[in-house]
Amino acid sequence: MSNPSEHPIPPPPKDTVAVAEGLLRACVHCGFCNATCPTYQLTGDEREGPRGRLYLMKDLLTGAVEGADLEPLARCLGCRSCETTCPAGVRYSEILDTVRERTQARRPALQRALDRASEAVLGARKPLATVMRAARALRPLAPRAWKRRILPSTKGLEWPTARHVRRVGLLLGCVQPALRPDLDVKAAIVLDHLGISAQPLGPACCGALPYHLQAHEKGRAQALETLSLGTTGDFEGVTSTATGCTAFLRDYGRLFQNTGEADRGQAFAATVTDIAAWIDPARLPLLPPDLRHDIAWHAPCSLQHALKGASRVEAILKALGHRLVPITDAALCCGSAGPYSMRHPRLARALAKRKWQTLTGADPALVVTANIGCQQHLASHGDRPVVHWLDLVYEALTKLDKACRD
Ligand code: SF4
Ligand code: SF4
Repeated sequence: MSNPSEHPIPPPPKDTVAVAEGLLRACVHCGFCNATCPTYQLTGDEREGPRGRLYLMKDLLTGAVEGADLEPLARCLGCRSCETTCPAGVRYSEILDTVRERTQARRPALQRALDRASEAVLGARKPLATVMRAARALRPLAPRAWKRRILPSTKGLEWPTARHVRRVGLLLGCVQPALRPDLDVKAAIVLDHLGISAQPLGPACCGALPYHLQAHEKGRAQALETLSLGTTGDFEGVTSTATGCTAFLRDYGRLFQNTGEADRGQAFAATVTDIAAWIDPARLPLLPPDLRHDIAWHAPCSLQHALKGASRVEAILKALGHRLVPITDAALCCGSAGPYSMRHPRLARALAKRKWQTLTGADPALVVTANIGCQQHLASHGDRPVVHWLDLVYEALTKLDKACRD
């Protein structure tokens, strides 16, 4: 472990300190946020909850402590559940991002090396896609727990020809095309059924992967490439099938603030919406009773806390005729949280176990989510199928279409 005093915190620019201090002043230390913080709920330790972390971040920003333990910040999921709960509107994630960027050189060398290794593995799009193709070929031989993590290919699926006036840019992302190459094509087919042509953007990383692995400058550089892709096409707006990516795209205004791209970042962010916003529940078919399921809906944190869009997906699932079983502690993270499950596997496993119990308490046939990370993480810890909600919409539209043609 490196000695924190070897890497003193560089004095942050005045404006950043002022902004963060302003944000911190909004906190009245009531502690309501601890009630919905997954790490506080697991540990019961004040330092592992948002209020304790805010105290620590204040000390770090104002230079009140030298050599403070940064681990409580490393163990924060960045799920933003505390923001949803906070009655004072504290923008916790903005403060966290500022502090993590300022203190990243002080983190132990081993942690930084692990972050770079995770980024190299997950960011290597082509090698990862090759590994996943091989895994799909060997799927019948894989142990059960692994089978659930190896998801379908694009076999038999074709991206529809652009034929509609309404167009949306669909970011293909970096990790998802390797793990679930079928999902973006299915989304394009769904949108085509509803009179919208999806234009593929990429594959390109939105920048979230390196940014959340504390390579902030690299994250901004990748985001800049995606910003250029997203501002040069002929479409109404941009979306993606992974809510983690969509939430990061939505944050480009803040990511590029105080840079020469501030205006472009802000204008682009205003066009980004969750893909569910492009689907009108009133235009979906009601499935016959034998095709309806009891489902447990797990809204990823990026959807419910960052994009505030969980209810849109619920309306879509209900419009198809599925029944949503009641879930306790729906606000709590499943432990996936981007690369978190690789950095903190023990905590991530404990969170998944707890989440799985709450999701399956009413014995649903399926667990449904909206982000590839949550889907993979939950699938490897559970005993029943975990699907993306777009899988269900795709199935409904194509099955009924086929039935009409027959
Ligand atoms: S962040 Fe909000 S909920 Fe948490 S202690 Fe501060 S004011 Fe209270
Ligand atoms: S972002 Fe999530 S894990 Fe971090 S303090 Fe807030 S609620 Fe807790």
